[in-house]
Amino acid sequence: MADKLILSLRDSLGPEGVLTGADVTARRAGIWGEEPIRARAIFRPRTTAEVATVLSACTRAGQSVVAHGGLTGLVGGALTTPEDVVLSLERMNHVEAIDEVGRTMTVQAGATLQHAQEQAEAKGLMLPLDLGARGSCTLGGNAATNAGGNRVIRYGMTRDMVLGLEAVLADGTLISSMNTMLKNNAGYDLKHLFIGTEGTLGVITRLVMRLRPMWRSQETALIACKDFTSVTGLLNRMDSLLGGTMSAFEVMWQGYYQLVTSPPAKSKPPLAVDYPYYVLLEALGGDPTQDADRFVGSIAAAEVDGLVLEAALAKSRSERDALWAIRDDVEQCLQFGPCFVFDVSLDLKHMEAYVSEVIANLKSRWKDPRAFVFGHLGDGNIHFVIATGDGSGASRQAVEKSVYEPLKCVAGSVSAEHGIGLEKKPYLSWCRSANEIELMRTLKQTMDPAGILNPGKIFDSAATE
Ligand SMILES: Cc1cc2nc3c(=O)[nH]c(=O)nc-3n(C[C@H](O)[C@H](O)[C@H](O)COP(=O)(O)OP(=O)(O)OC[C@H]3O[C@@H](n4cnc5c(N)ncnc54)[C@H](O)[C@@H]3O)c2cc1C
Repeated sequence: MADKLILSLRDSLGPEGVLTGADVTARRAGIWGEEPIRARAIFRPRTTAEVATVLSACTRAGQSVVAHGGLTGLVGGALTTPEDVVLSLERMNHVEAIDEVGRTMTVQAGATLQHAQEQAEAKGLMLPLDLGARGSCTLGGNAATNAGGNRVIRYGMTRDMVLGLEAVLADGTLISSMNTMLKNNAGYDLKHLFIGTEGTLGVITRLVMRLRPMWRSQETALIACKDFTSVTGLLNRMDSLLGGTMSAFEVMWQGYYQLVTSPPAKSKPPLAVDYPYYVLLEALGGDPTQDADRFVGSIAAAEVDGLVLEAALAKSRSERDALWAIRDDVEQCLQFGPCFVFDVSLDLKHMEAYVSEVIANLKSRWKDPRAFVFGHLGDGNIHFVIATGDGSGASRQAVEKSVYEPLKCVAGSVSAEHGIGLEKKPYLSWCRSANEIELMRTLKQTMDPAGILNPGKIFDSAATE
């Protein structure tokens, strides 16, 4: 059955549009050297019509399909079994149009975030979404995972930047919601069915993104704080002193800072390595002279208040890039063998006690657990990378329980921005109610009755609990 499907789609997409055999396994299932892709075939459509052809044929054949963007997702959402086929958006990678008056971008879903950012910048505009994987992740993947990133505190998550989108349902039906307006309350806003649903309800093919004026000033500083109360105090003080221009408030706990500023990491520490917390603060504004003075003055005022121990200000683009390279060098964690990545959110008032509880949980099981903590703290979002245990399923479960159990009593979320995919599926019910999950199942059943789109991701089609 599937071979017939592949032959017929080769006719529709052309020989370049279908990969099989060694051409499939030659590709990795992720950007950090994961296993080879195992799938019957990779379909590479060039147009929305071709995506519709693939999906309707797959529905007729009962063939499961997993959409692939840049494969930078961190929860196994794009993983395949050998029985699946992949629908890769890699040949639908163009920025189609930029409307400089309305400040919108129309873009194909397979375009990388960095390409879209650069096209906007060439017109003096800005696509505010930004994350470390910008060179590989795609706008379709960003929308499917509702990615957050470094500037959520100012511009929101991907959902807040998507004005319109086009998607193809499992049976090949085209849903074109390519709205370009800021306001449009005509009925249900259907784009949200596809944003953050990880390719389980449809395949996103094109998007309309909201652009902003390009910033004219960019101020960046690394700031050391003596305790967590100073970190949250600094967040609120900067938010009011910077008059709405604060665009990033990233925090690194001491252990993470030491890791990413010591060999084999390439970065050198701009501040001494023995402070408890380091804040990477950024402001984007429209008046280079006044903004610089206000930024320096605000940090000085916070220092007088005792919120700042020491600060390093970036004086050039290369110094700014060097500060961000420290924050973004997550790969250093991989040197310790099997490690587990977590992305949780909770109210800031619970954060310090929560982190202590997680570390205590780990220590109660392992002698010297390696746990690195950092994240988009301004958004109530932290990441743990935990390199401990033997990488077995039992270790993973024990580490997961250590991280997720203490979230329950503070109503936190097991996924701030990465999604659920496969990895967090067992914990969805820890932060979504039974009625919420049942409604998710109803939507899935209605939009994809044959269950061919990314099956088994986020939740099982039938309730098991
Ligand atoms: C170094 C690094 C830094 C990162 N930083 C952040 C961060 O700050 N914030 C954050 O939120 N994430 C971050 N991530 C995670 C990741 O980059 C995001 O989840 C990203 O949005 C995934 O995009 P992608 O194109 O790589 O999607 P993929 O990994 O290819 O796919 C992810 C999911 O989306 C689905 N999908 C992909 N394309 C489509 C489509 N066109 N239609 C429907 N479904 C689709 C897939 O089936 C899968 O379920 C980071 C990852 C890395 C490696």
